[in-house]
Amino acid sequence: MSYVFNTGEALLALCENEQLPLHEVMLRRELELTDSSRAALREEMHKNLTVMRASIEEGLQAEYRSVSGLSGGDAQKLFSRASGTFMGADAARAVAAAMAVVEVNASMGKIVAAPTAGASGILPGTLLGLAEVRGWKDGSLIDALFAAAAVGVIIAANATLAGSEGGCQAETGSAAAMTAAALAHLSGAKPAVCLNAAAIALQNVLGLVCDPVAGLVECPCIKRNALGAANAMLSADLALSGVGSIIPFDETVDALRTVGRLLPSDLRETARGGLAATKTAKEITKRLGLSAQAE
Ligand code: SF4
Repeated sequence: MSYVFNTGEALLALCENEQLPLHEVMLRRELELTDSSRAALREEMHKNLTVMRASIEEGLQAEYRSVSGLSGGDAQKLFSRASGTFMGADAARAVAAAMAVVEVNASMGKIVAAPTAGASGILPGTLLGLAEVRGWKDGSLIDALFAAAAVGVIIAANATLAGSEGGCQAETGSAAAMTAAALAHLSGAKPAVCLNAAAIALQNVLGLVCDPVAGLVECPCIKRNALGAANAMLSADLALSGVGSIIPFDETVDALRTVGRLLPSDLRETARGGLAATKTAKEITKRLGLSAQAE
């Protein structure tokens, strides 16, 4: 019996046939592909969770300024106003926590690249930002990280997680999909519902370009992580409400791959297109003594 899966369909078949939750199939996949023990794999994930928690606390406590001076302090601003926000205090705190992690990343702090440094805020910010109010303990959060990893593995195998290959849809979109699945998993949803949540999150940002101002992972990246956290919560809520994804998860991942290939290189992390090509972005780039990537 092999637990190695590369598609959503195969993952769901394993869950169904073996009557196993999403996170357990992912854990068994890792046991099969590595020399690690179950305890070691869970301990490793616990360490990730600890770093994630520390990066949120760090980003929300201090007014971080990045080396470029382009970012810092915005997570704290939203967090302070959480109870007055349109989205509601819990969601706003989760979004602020997501931003905090990327601000820490921009100031050279320690983060977990889950799945990438540019999209490192969405998964920890949303899960840990909601953990206290939802009563999620570390054991459940570790399970949820394995569930999220199952989604990430499939996207990596069939498309890409890199903005330089597939645009921001591949980076913050994938992180939002992983997070949406994790949120549904934490809410006790069946694996198929978790993949529905992931599919909706990806579909919501299909085509999103990667256009970092001055080539730095700050603008629009920090706000794209804010959007990713909100997207993940919305997508999980839709799936948990019984709103299906008309296009299945695997076909959505295929669409992500083809859209990524259709994107011109100017819109794939080269800082030559989109927001990076605006007048203001060019002024910032000149002021910082940076340049866009050459062909
Ligand atoms: S704009 Fe590009 S660098 Fe920034 S988060 Fe999106 S994919 Fe990453």
